Amino acid sequence: MASPLFPVFADLRGRDVLVVGGGAVAQRKAEALLEAGARVRLGAPEISAALSHHAGEGRIQHLQGPFQAHWLDGAWLAIAATDDQAVNQAVADAGEARRIWVNVVDDAQASSVQIPARIERGPLQVAISSGGGAPMLARHLREKLESELDESIGALAELLARERPRIRARFPQTGQRRRFFDRLLAGPVPNLLRQRQPLAAEREFSAALGESSDTGTRGYVALVGAGPGDPGLLTLRALRVLNEADVILHDRLVSKDVLQLVRRDAQRIEVGKQAGNHHTTQQQIHALMLEHARAGKRVVRLKGGDPFVFGRGGEELEVLRADGIEFEVVPGITAALACAAYAGVPLTHRDHAQSVRLVTAHCKDSLDTLDWPSLALERQTLAVYMGVAGLDALRDRLIAHGRAPSTPFALVENGSRPEQRVVVGTLADLAERARHHEVQSPALLIVGEVAALAQTLHWFGTAPLGEAPLALAA
Ligand code: SAH
Repeated sequence: MASPLFPVFADLRGRDVLVVGGGAVAQRKAEALLEAGARVRLGAPEISAALSHHAGEGRIQHLQGPFQAHWLDGAWLAIAATDDQAVNQAVADAGEARRIWVNVVDDAQASSVQIPARIERGPLQVAISSGGGAPMLARHLREKLESELDESIGALAELLARERPRIRARFPQTGQRRRFFDRLLAGPVPNLLRQRQPLAAEREFSAALGESSDTGTRGYVALVGAGPGDPGLLTLRALRVLNEADVILHDRLVSKDVLQLVRRDAQRIEVGKQAGNHHTTQQQIHALMLEHARAGKRVVRLKGGDPFVFGRGGEELEVLRADGIEFEVVPGITAALACAAYAGVPLTHRDHAQSVRLVTAHCKDSLDTLDWPSLALERQTLAVYMGVAGLDALRDRLIAHGRAPSTPFALVENGSRPEQRVVVGTLADLAERARHHEVQSPALLIVGEVAALAQTLHWFGTAPLGEAPLALAA
């Protein structure tokens, strides 16, 4: 069944609109109308403090008393927003008789016009209607679109509106114009606007206008943090970029749940690194990024956690910059933050720690070059990445440099994922406990007084494994 409603966007600037009602709903409607430039008169026996403030400032005209049909005279539109159905109906009837559109809030039946759920991006508006039958569905869709439509679309709409005469003069035929728009939208302009570089966007726009044929869309790389695994921890920006990607180069660490969100027809390439084979593989990753970006593809380089935390993101950007390829960086939730949150370990709980340090200890070399005296300091939390294999050495050195053997630890395996496990204990028996529970990579180690709080503050998945550690030092 097709919708019986015909969509219009009304220009209310300088036009009279009547709102009937004096409460919070009437206020919301009045304010939305003011924003649209309407001249608002508002009728009600009593009005809220905020509304009388608006009236006092002259922004709205207050008609005092019970509804009277002549309030509608000269209005283009009316909104009935009282909690009295009879009054609302009276407004609707009076409007009908005068051929004035009336919206009764939350009552599609009584309304001759409905106000859609909408998404605004500058001059661009998307309006959604369910015909009044399923407003919750319309709202749900609105929220979804809200998260998918980037804010920069508004800036793009503004730019295009401003440049419309030039575009029309340059490409008089519709077909030419359509091809120009396709080119423009696939090119660098939208991204430059997103990166808040309006001048560069204007320059690229003018360049695009000068080009008569397709001179090739330029590739682009987004270096994106996929977070620790739970797709709910992706940023909105990450989600949008994944939705637009042509090619995804992802690490093994990126969870299946996150990969499910990638645009369906995007090409997915796993570039998982095997331990001991870092160097060549990193070169190959660089080569793959360049190859696809040079071919004009929108490439997403998707990494576990955050791309700049033990993620070699910096090196990849250097390669792109040297090749003149545009890029952006979308941060992700790094394992230390995610594992701490999902294990109930407040990293800098003020009673127990004054700082956090993110360190990696994946091989003997990295263990040897760490500054152990400072890592062994008290009242500081260590978040150790890639450490599963070196736990004996780590414990020995921390204790040798003065960290108390009774210092609590929490070892978080598969943090934020359904299979998350947390092993707790004290530094003295760190390696034994990890072996006992057969902890596997990826796991993040938290060492410090705060780790003991996992016993009381855990909330995700199964409870921590291990005996209660010694009581916290006061
Ligand atoms: N860029 C990533 C880190 C890459 S290094 C980030 O910001 O998180 C890889 C190490 O990160 C793993 O060995 C492990 O120590 C840690 N890690 C990543 N995801 C993890 C997870 N879901 N649970 C536990 N540790 C994780």
